[in-house]
Amino acid sequence: ADHCFDYPQTPDEMDWFKHYPEMIKQNNDNNENVQVEFLDIGCGYGGLLITLSPMFPNTLILGMEIRVKVSDYVMDRIAALRSQHPSQYQNIACIRSNAMKYLPNFFKKGQLKKLFFLYPDPHFKKAKHKWRIINECLLAEYAYVLADGGIIYTITDVKDLHEWMADHLSKHPLFERMGEEELKDDPIIEKLYSSTEEGQKVTRNNGDKFLAVFKKISDPYFN
Ligand code: SAM
Repeated sequence: ADHCFDYPQTPDEMDWFKHYPEMIKQNNDNNENVQVEFLDIGCGYGGLLITLSPMFPNTLILGMEIRVKVSDYVMDRIAALRSQHPSQYQNIACIRSNAMKYLPNFFKKGQLKKLFFLYPDPHFKKAKHKWRIINECLLAEYAYVLADGGIIYTITDVKDLHEWMADHLSKHPLFERMGEEELKDDPIIEKLYSSTEEGQKVTRNNGDKFLAVFKKISDPYFN
């Protein structure tokens, strides 16, 4: 139940020091510290975090995972990497949370630069579609925590879910689909296919992979 989740009342109350002890100054105002900028929603076993860590050594990257055992595994995995490779993997962390509920408790408006949805749970049945992690209501929250120009990356092996995500994002006034030309210099794209455990499973099963990437545009009513 939800009372098991530990989440701050507001982003200012969040203690990031314990997650990134070498990157964050203790007891400092969050505003004076580096902030989390990349968020992997439903990070599973953490493959993307570990791949991105050395690519963006100065960026704080967070995975959110709802399953206790899986999030514990990722935390242990990061702790082991940090002790095996001193001063590396300091910029990645994982917290257990329900990303469908508490994002604005953790992040300020416009704080995030990249949001990742890699192989999210498909929830095939129509009655379960409301549980899909990309839906109309949640897109408003994702738009809130994303900076203008921030990017949402989605990839899935489920064609119906791909169409659902691309369709919802395309219809939203604050998101614009990015074309191949715009994406060709982004080093992250190729990592979306096989850096995560789920992506590797799809590869082993010779499954298809469908990519859709969207940019947040500035809100015409507020600028
Ligand atoms: N992204 C990972 C990968 O590519 O290997 C995991 C994919 S797995 C199919 C989907 C993950 O999302 C699961 O680990 C699940 O526990 C997590 N998840 C589902 N709903 C969530 C939510 N509301 N908040 C956080 N994580 C969630």
